Amino acid sequence: MDSILAKIIQRDPEQKEFHQAVQEVMETVRPVLERNPEFRKQAILERIVEPERVIMFRVPWMDDQGQVHVNRGFRVEMNSAIGPYKGGLRFHPSVTLSIIKFLASEQVFKNSLTTLQMGGGKGGADFDPKGRSDAEVMRFCQAFMAELQRHIGPDTDVPAGDIGVGAREIGYLFGMYKKLRNEFTGVLTGKSLAWGGSLIRPEATGYGVVYFAAEMLGTRGETLEGKTCLVSGSGNVAQFTAEKLLELGGKVLTLSDSSGYIFDEEGIDAEKLEHVKDIKNIRRGRIREYCEKYPQAIYVETDPGLDYNPIWTHSADCAMPSATQNEINEKDAQTMINNGVQLVCEGANMPSSPSAVDIFVENHILYGPSKAANAGGVAVSGLEMAQNSMRLKWPREEVDSRLKQIMHCIHTTCVDASAEYGLQGNYAAGANIAGFVNVVNAMLDQGLV
Ligand code: NDP
Repeated sequence: MDSILAKIIQRDPEQKEFHQAVQEVMETVRPVLERNPEFRKQAILERIVEPERVIMFRVPWMDDQGQVHVNRGFRVEMNSAIGPYKGGLRFHPSVTLSIIKFLASEQVFKNSLTTLQMGGGKGGADFDPKGRSDAEVMRFCQAFMAELQRHIGPDTDVPAGDIGVGAREIGYLFGMYKKLRNEFTGVLTGKSLAWGGSLIRPEATGYGVVYFAAEMLGTRGETLEGKTCLVSGSGNVAQFTAEKLLELGGKVLTLSDSSGYIFDEEGIDAEKLEHVKDIKNIRRGRIREYCEKYPQAIYVETDPGLDYNPIWTHSADCAMPSATQNEINEKDAQTMINNGVQLVCEGANMPSSPSAVDIFVENHILYGPSKAANAGGVAVSGLEMAQNSMRLKWPREEVDSRLKQIMHCIHTTCVDASAEYGLQGNYAAGANIAGFVNVVNAMLDQGLV
C-alpha cells in the first residue's frame, strides 16, 4: 500500500487533495485487503485510484464588456463499475485537477453506499460566478457544455451541481445540451421541477446530513431537540442543514461564506433563515448583510493569516461543516472537543483534515464522514434519474421518505462494516470499507477492463 501511494505521489506530486483522499481510504481498507488476497492479486488498489478517463478542455467565453476569457474545464470519470458516472460540477477559482480527482474518488465510494446504480465522477472549472451577470454566467455555461456534451449522456455520465453550480447554472447547461444533441433526457440532475427535476433534490444533501446526525445520536439514546449547532457555509447544503435542524428542535448559531461568518447567540430561526436565503440565492450577496437586519449577531471577517478557523471556537453540542474541503484542522478539532462538541456530521466533502479526523475518532465523539453523511444529495439525484427514465414525478413525501430510508440504511451499513472489522463506532472506517467492497466486487465480476 505504501508503495502504491508513493507511486501516486511521484506521478502527480502537485495533487495534494487527491493524495489526501486516497490515503484516507487506503488506511482504513487495509484489513479488507488482508482478508481478501484476491483483491491484491487483481491489483484492485492500483486500478481503483486511476481514473477511467480524465477530460480537460478549454472554455473560451466573452464578458459583458466584450473581453474574451479562457477558463479550464474538467470532467474526471473515475469508476463505472456499478453504474454510469455520477457526480457534480464545481465552478470556483480554486478548482484544479487535484480537487476534481479527490472529489471524483470520494464520489465513487459515496455513490456505492447509496446502493443505487451510480458510478463516480466529478467535474467543473476554475471559473468564478461571483460578481458575474446572469448573461455572463449563461455564456460561460454554454461554452462549457459545448465541449462537455460529447462526453456525457443519461446512460454514460450524469453531472449535477456543486459549489457555484445551482439551479441557474444547471438550467443554462441543460438548455445548451438539449440544443446541441436535440434530445430531452435526464443528462443532468438538480433540474428545475418544471422540466424534469425531482421534489426534495435541492433540500436532499442538507436534510440527509441531519437525518444521519439523528441516526448517530439515536445510538446513544439522544435526539437533536435542544442541541446547539455550528453550521459553516451558507449555500445549498448549509441552508437545508439549518432548515432541518430547526425542524427537529436544534438551535443553529452560525453560518459563513468565504468572506467571514456570523454568530447569532439567540439562534438563527426559520424567519432569519429565509432572510439568509434571500441574501444568498436571490440577491447573491454576502453573509455579513445578515447583521444589517439582525444587529445582535456578530460578524467575523475571514483572516487568512490565522492557523485556525474561528467559527469552530464557539461552544456547541454539534458541528455541521458545510462549506468546503479542509475547513477543520487539528487545532480546530481539539478546540471543538474542549468546547464540548459531541457530534460532527460533514455536509461538505472532506471538510476535516486527516489529523482532525484522528482527534474525533480518538475522543469517541460521533463523527459522520462526508462520504456517508452527505450522500443524500446524490441519492436523490439517483431518484431523479429513476423518475426521468419512467417519465414520472413522485410526490414530495415519497421522495423524502425514500431519502430518510436511504440515510438510515447508510448508517446501518457503516455500523455493521466497522463492527465486522472490530472497529465499532468508527463511522469513517465503516463508510470506506462498505463503499470499497461493493465497488471492488463489481470490478472483479466485470474482469480486467
Ligand atoms: P454552494 O456554492 O451552494 O455554497 C458553498 C458555500 O461554501 C458558500 O457559502 C461559499 O461561500 C462557501 N465556500 C466555498 N468555498 C469556500 C472557501 N474556499 N472558503 C470558505 N467558504 C467557502 O455549494 P454547496 O452548498 O452545494 O456545497 C458545499 C459543500 O457541500 C461542498 O464541499 C460540496 O462539495 C458539498 N456537497 C454538495 C452537494 C450538493 O448537493 N450541493 C452534495 C454533496 C456534497 P461564498 O458564497 O463566499 O462562495
